[in-house]
Amino acid sequence: MLMEDLFERLKKFQELLLERVALEEEIHQLPKSIAAQEEVLTRARKAHADKAARFEEVSTKVSELRQNLTDTMAQREKSEQQMDSISSPREFEALNKEITEAGQREDQFRKELKREEENFKEAEEELKAAVTLIEAQEQEIAEKRARIKNEESDMNARVKKLRAEETKITNGIDSEVVFKFERIIRSKQGIGIVPVRGTICSGCSMILPAEFVNEVRQSNKITFCPYCSRVLYYQEGEAQDEYLVDIESGSLADLDDFGDEGEDEGYDGSDDIDSGKDDMDGSED
Ligand SMILES: [Zn+2]
Repeated sequence: MLMEDLFERLKKFQELLLERVALEEEIHQLPKSIAAQEEVLTRARKAHADKAARFEEVSTKVSELRQNLTDTMAQREKSEQQMDSISSPREFEALNKEITEAGQREDQFRKELKREEENFKEAEEELKAAVTLIEAQEQEIAEKRARIKNEESDMNARVKKLRAEETKITNGIDSEVVFKFERIIRSKQGIGIVPVRGTICSGCSMILPAEFVNEVRQSNKITFCPYCSRVLYYQEGEAQDEYLVDIESGSLADLDDFGDEGEDEGYDGSDDIDSGKDDMDGSED
């Protein structure tokens, strides 16, 4: 495979991969978009449980009071009937007292009942509102889920298509190079293949040793930048010869110290340099 052809393929692969990585991230984020609504729903359900408990409590109180009122009224009516058949003033006194007291209890129960019936109405409305809120949230979430599912299946279909194209475009390229290239793209904000301009890696702006640049220029295998690990290709520039003359030849070890200060903040230590070196040294040994 011609190097030019290889570089073109890597560039195309990079495009496909970038789109796929972005899509995969988007797919990953999709469920998070309904997390806030699910939180609202959880709170609404908890509020509903509290309202339901209060409604239950007030209902019980109301029916107890109603029962008490009915019982007291029946008791009073019974006493009133007995009035017809009293035979002594003492009996009258006793019955009269019972009737009066029953009447007082009735008044008390009516008062309490009125208050509790108001509470009942309030609790009933609050419960209804809580149910409505839950239903609205559930519906909204269900609709959003359906939308997300549609989007997701569209995106997954696109991912599948991209993968197929990737497989096609990388056919014939060393699988280790493909694997490495993919890793670089994922960790270097999407740019995995960059030109060397003069003696500078345009990916990380580090100055490369002249000897190394010559290797890139003449090499018939993939070369990785020792600083940012990107794949390098040589781009003919107007000032290239000038650059080559100006740069003192130095070893990579001399440049190691600049690593941490390089413009490329994604530079992550010696691993990249080592792996880069391995590739530069080649596999002849
Ligand atoms: Zn670089």
